[in-house]
Amino acid sequence: MDIAVARAWILAVATAIDEHADQLTQLDSAIGDADHGVNMRRGFTAVVAALDELSAGTVGDVLAKTGVTLISSVGGASGPLYGNAFRAMGKALFEPVADGDQVLAALTGGLVAVQQLGAAVPGDKTMVDAYAPAVATLKKALAEHRDFAAAATAAADAAEAGMHATTPLIARKGRASYLGSRSVGHQDPGATSTALIFRALADTVMT
Ligand code: ADP
Ligand code: MG
Ligand code: MG
Repeated sequence: MDIAVARAWILAVATAIDEHADQLTQLDSAIGDADHGVNMRRGFTAVVAALDELSAGTVGDVLAKTGVTLISSVGGASGPLYGNAFRAMGKALFEPVADGDQVLAALTGGLVAVQQLGAAVPGDKTMVDAYAPAVATLKKALAEHRDFAAAATAAADAAEAGMHATTPLIARKGRASYLGSRSVGHQDPGATSTALIFRALADTVMT
């Protein structure tokens, strides 16, 4: 991943969020406060504007700018969680080009940041349920010497499987946890946006 690919990834995320904003808000209306799509669209619109102004010297500059912009522009739980994740990724990638293992390490650092801030574990019906299997799958695929594009596609598939697997779960973190067992039967909005982020990565490195 070089600076141009990092930019292309984040712009692809912004496009995917924009296209799926109504769906994300719909999901959040079932088990939250009906703002996840609105929050994410506001955040990534601000990110696109911020990246436009940025002259990046490293891959990490692009991701760190994404993180701080999300933190400052999104009010909901997802803003600080994704913001911290992208900031952590940014700190890990301090060169103009990153290889697959470095991107894996950065994404892993992002997951650690999400879990440090939000204290969610897999099975709590949050973004972690998509993020953790995506990182585990990327790690396994790279260890098997698959090329980064194939590994990223496997990771996106795992994120989507994790997203679907949130539906029968009882929410234990965030607003949805207030519903207790009434959260069962609904797909988690944050796991859905995380799956979009990993699919955007796979699509970006494929092309
Ligand atoms: P809010 O709940 O403040 O309105 P959003 O609607 O933007 O924020 O985001 C909700 C999503 O945030 C949830 O679907 C869930 O995936 C994620 N989330 C909430 N709390 C946590 C947490 N403690 N750890 C990880 N993810 C969380
Ligand atoms: Mg919400
Ligand atoms: Mg909210």
